[in-house]
Amino acid sequence: MDFFQTRPMRWLRDYFNTHPRAEHYVSDALIPVEAIIKKPLFGCQECGQCLLHENGFVCPMRCPKNSRNGPCGGVRANGHCEVYPERWCVWYRAYYQSQRLPVWREHIFQIHRPVNWQLYQASSSWINMLTGRDVGIKPTLPVKPKAAKQIPPKVTAQ
Ligand code: SF4
Repeated sequence: MDFFQTRPMRWLRDYFNTHPRAEHYVSDALIPVEAIIKKPLFGCQECGQCLLHENGFVCPMRCPKNSRNGPCGGVRANGHCEVYPERWCVWYRAYYQSQRLPVWREHIFQIHRPVNWQLYQASSSWINMLTGRDVGIKPTLPVKPKAAKQIPPKVTAQ
């Protein structure tokens, strides 16, 4: 059974759908947690729309062109990147790594949406996956600007 279709996850999704402020708080709290786990392991750039398990645990945001659906066409004959010739092409690695996984092997052939830059470094991909924001089921929450500090007016003695 899909983890996101379990009863607690459905309850949580409904809760966030009716309490956007709570969703914001939880999402903000999870951004650093996600970064601590995924940055050292996968070089995560906090895009908010995670495709790790679809891509053999190779982060697509490490591609200098931010390609989400395979190599750009400039990949070199030896499997290296067009922009950084000393590096492997992200998609070359993703394909071979995904085919070695016991599960999700065929997910690399799915078509993915382009990066939604409004979610980039502004929200947790775990929460976006739960609510469907990462695949565009829900509209992007407007990113709230930090409230400007209110300076009380000076009171002068008369
Ligand atoms: S796909 Fe996005 S959320 Fe997932 S590891 Fe890469 S940058 Fe991070």
